[in-house]
Amino acid sequence: MKTRNGDDLFIIAGVSLTITLAKGKPADVKRQMDYLVEKGPKVGLILGCYYAILMSELQTKIRQFCYFCQGLVYKKGTVGEFNKGLERERDWLFGKMKAQSSTKMEFFEVKHLDKRIYTERIRDFLPEKVIDIHAHIWLKENNAGPDHENRVVRWASSVAEENPVEDLLETYRLLLPGKSVTPLVFNMPTKGKNLDTLNRYVSESAKKYKLPPLMLSRPEWPAEEFSERLQGEGFLGVKPYLSYAPSHIPAKEIRIFDFIPRHQLEVLNRQGKILLLHIPRDGRLKDPVNLAQMLEIEERYPDIKLIIAHVGRAYCSEDIGDAFKILAGTQKMFFDISANTNETVFRQLIETMGPERILFGSDLPITRMRMRRICEKGIYINLVPEGLYGDVSDDKNMRAVQGEEAEKLTFFFYEEIMAFLEASKTIGLNKNDLKKVFFTNATFILQNAGFGN
Ligand SMILES: [Zn+2]
Repeated sequence: MKTRNGDDLFIIAGVSLTITLAKGKPADVKRQMDYLVEKGPKVGLILGCYYAILMSELQTKIRQFCYFCQGLVYKKGTVGEFNKGLERERDWLFGKMKAQSSTKMEFFEVKHLDKRIYTERIRDFLPEKVIDIHAHIWLKENNAGPDHENRVVRWASSVAEENPVEDLLETYRLLLPGKSVTPLVFNMPTKGKNLDTLNRYVSESAKKYKLPPLMLSRPEWPAEEFSERLQGEGFLGVKPYLSYAPSHIPAKEIRIFDFIPRHQLEVLNRQGKILLLHIPRDGRLKDPVNLAQMLEIEERYPDIKLIIAHVGRAYCSEDIGDAFKILAGTQKMFFDISANTNETVFRQLIETMGPERILFGSDLPITRMRMRRICEKGIYINLVPEGLYGDVSDDKNMRAVQGEEAEKLTFFFYEEIMAFLEASKTIGLNKNDLKKVFFTNATFILQNAGFGN
């Protein structure tokens, strides 16, 4: 479109106030803003808010939004008034941006307490560059729907309905300010959903932001199909999941090879890919069937980069058993510390494996949860502020707390890192050891699996 004199239009554009701003998330706002910038005129595009022109009483709300998207707000009136208004709003916005970053619209709250924990107990111990080996991204439009089979814990889904890649990247900016974080991304295993759709979202996001991706896989895929899917989309490996084991197997009896069968392990081995493994069974890390199959993968498929997620789900000391004695003989497998806050487990892990075989992983977005984890009779319990994650009274892994105790809770993400740092301090790891865990080990794994080639 042109003006009647043939000039380019001066366009005032913004994000939908009634839909996107009211119900959307930062990722939705960004998506719409990107669209406007891409489709709008080369010069003369003002990213502002349509409603601001008509309804000045909404200005306060809109200012907040415009601050977020760095657009401009102005009022209806003459050109002179318009320009003056524009300048005033611009000054207001820029002043605000400099003065207090807390007015920035964020999709979850970072409190003073959290910031203090980060600066005093975390920031200086981590390297400048961090690799997060365990991060989920998904869109609710692809994954929504109940998981009818009781094979996964419920509480995890109460933190985030979805986690678009933009939200994940924003989370690192909020939780690890000043650090540059590269996540290994994969979708959230959702039973009954089309894995092609879920994997496509991950591979597209990975290409867009130059991130390493993993593929969700089904055990019934024949070797050739499995191999084609892996290579076709540039996946560095797989994140198989126990939900995809054949449905006739009771949840408690699922074994590793039921959801990542040998013919697929052979493909991974041949291609030197990553296997990020969430081990099954109530016995967790100490379960003899799990341990036997972990050892078997290491021995028979030596070129697989095997990573045991969440330190084998050993969230309480009771989950360890003889595991570390048995695992002491291993040479290659790695362990990610994601979603684990147990210092005793971390200490034994470091003692057995050394810093060369431990990887930082977050399991975001669930570690955005505000919580502290305790163990009672071998069962882990997440203490959470009452009401923040709905009614948790019928969940054996959750417990609501109030008052001062609730006020003191920080992010699961920080709890995990602090527990690991405490354990590493007890053992005497130095800064270079920590750099291995948070960056270097993962760099080698990703490079050897083909990232950046
Ligand atoms: Zn996970």
